[in-house]
Amino acid sequence: MKFGGTSVGDGSQIRQVSDLVRRYYDEGNEIAVVVSAMSGLTDELQTIAERLTSEYAEVKEVAEFVHLVGKRHFDATYAAIEDEMIITEVISELETRLEELKNALTGIYHLGELTDRSYDYISSFGERLSVPIVSGALKSLKVQSVFLTGGQAGIITDGKHRGARPTEITERRVHERLVPLLKVGIVPVITGFIAWNIHNIITTLGRGGSDYTASIIGSAVDADEIWIWTDVDGIMTADPKLVSNARTLPHISYVEAMEISYFGAKVIHPKTIEPAVSKGIPVRVKNTFNPNGANTTIVHTVANDQSLVKAVTAINNVALITLSGAGMAGTIGVAGHVFSKLAQAGVNIIMISQGSSESNISMLVEEEHLTGALNALHGLKNEFNSNVIKEISCNEDVSAIAVVGSRMAGTPGIVGRIFNCMGRIDVNVIMISQGSTEHNVSFVLTRDAARRAVESLHEEFSLSSAH
Ligand code: ADP
Ligand code: ASP
Ligand code: MG
Repeated sequence: MKFGGTSVGDGSQIRQVSDLVRRYYDEGNEIAVVVSAMSGLTDELQTIAERLTSEYAEVKEVAEFVHLVGKRHFDATYAAIEDEMIITEVISELETRLEELKNALTGIYHLGELTDRSYDYISSFGERLSVPIVSGALKSLKVQSVFLTGGQAGIITDGKHRGARPTEITERRVHERLVPLLKVGIVPVITGFIAWNIHNIITTLGRGGSDYTASIIGSAVDADEIWIWTDVDGIMTADPKLVSNARTLPHISYVEAMEISYFGAKVIHPKTIEPAVSKGIPVRVKNTFNPNGANTTIVHTVANDQSLVKAVTAINNVALITLSGAGMAGTIGVAGHVFSKLAQAGVNIIMISQGSSESNISMLVEEEHLTGALNALHGLKNEFNSNVIKEISCNEDVSAIAVVGSRMAGTPGIVGRIFNCMGRIDVNVIMISQGSTEHNVSFVLTRDAARRAVESLHEEFSLSSAH
C-alpha cells in the first residue's frame, strides 16, 4: 500500500492512514507500506535549495525554513500518535533529520551551487521525515512496525540523479529484506521516491516516484495486489479538478493506465505499471478519504470492455520545438542526429511529428528540459550545411491533450470526432500525433484552450456516463 502526500498531509490524515492499514492488517494481510512526503514538501525543499544559490538569499532563511518544516512534523506527530514513549522516539528521530537538513542547506548557501546529487539529497528529506511518524502511528495502534529508506529496503539504482531506475539486484535484495519482516507480522514503512546508488548515495526516482517505489516493492515481494491510496476515487475519465462530472474507471488495462499517466494524469506515475506488468500483479487506485467508495483496478485485459474512449488528459508543463529548413527534405540522418543529440542532453521527448514534405520536425518536450534541448539543437544546426536546419523555434505557451482507450485501435471515425469537436469550440490544433498502436490520439494546442478542450471532449464521448 502506498499513501501519497495528499494522504499524509497532517496528523489527522496520518491517523486515518494508520487506521486503514490496521484494518487490513487485522483481516490477516501482510502489508508493506510506502509513504510520500507530506503534501507540498518536496516542492518546498526544492524551491529553498534553488533559492539558496541565488545572490539574494540570506543564511537566516535556512533556520526559518527548517523551523517551519519541524513544526509541521512535530504537530503531526502529536496529533497522530497517542503513546508518549513512541512520541518521544519519533521526535528524537525527526530532530536528527532536521539537523541534517539544516546542515545540508547551510552548505548549499555557502557554496552557492546545487549539484544533482545535492538536489536529490535535499529532496529526500520529505519522505525521510514522514516515515517515522507513520510507523510510530502504527505502533501506537499496536501494529508492529519499522521504518526504512528505499535504499535500506533494498532499492539500488543506476545512480542517475533526479530520475534513477532500479538495477537488477533490487528485486532480490528487496525480497530478502522485506519478506522476513512481513512473515512475522511486522509492517515495514518505506520512503517512496528515494533509493540508493551502489555506493549508498541517495538518488530519487523522479517527481511523483513514490508510486513507482510501491510497484518495485510490490513486485519484489510477490504481492497479491499493489494499492495506491490517493485523494480521489481512483483513475477517472478526466482530472476531476478540470472536469466536475469526471467518473471513476472501475477497470482499465495496464496499457491504458500507462497512456493516461504518461500524458498527464498524475494520479499514478507512468513507471508504476512496468514492475506490475512483469508479474501480472493487479494495481488498485483507491481514495484514502473514501476507502469504501469507487476505485480503479488495473489489470492485463479488461473483460467485456465496451468503451472506446476511456479518458481525456492534459499536460501543461511542456514546450514545443520546431526545426525547419528546406534542405532537411531528403537529407538522410537529420532526424537521427536530432534525437541522439537530445538524448545526450538528457531531454525527454513526449511527442514527435514530421510532415511528409520533411522540411520540418516538431517535438514536444518537458518544459524543464527546454533550455537544454535548445542548446543541443543550436549546436547541431552548426554541424550541418547552413540550409539544412534553417530555423529553430519554440513555443512555451502550449498544452498537450490525449484521448486514450485501447479499443480505439481499428475503430474508424474517432479522430474525426476529436478534431470536429475542436473545430466547433474554435480551438486551433498546432500539432497532432497518433502512435500506430492507436491507443491514444494526442495533440498540442495553446495553453489557455486546454481546459475547454478537455471538457468538450469529455462531453463529446459521453464519458460521464457508464457505457
Ligand atoms: P498523491 O499525493 O496521492 O500522489 P497526486 O496529487 O500525485 O496524489 O495525484 C492525485 C491527483 O491526480 C488528483 O488529486 C487529481 O487532481 C489528479 N488527476 C489528474 N488526472 C486524473 C485522472 N484522470 N483521474 C484521477 N485523478 C487525476
Ligand atoms: N514526494 C515526491 C514528489 O512530490 C514523490 C511523490 O510524492 O510521489 O514528487
Ligand atoms: Mg503522486
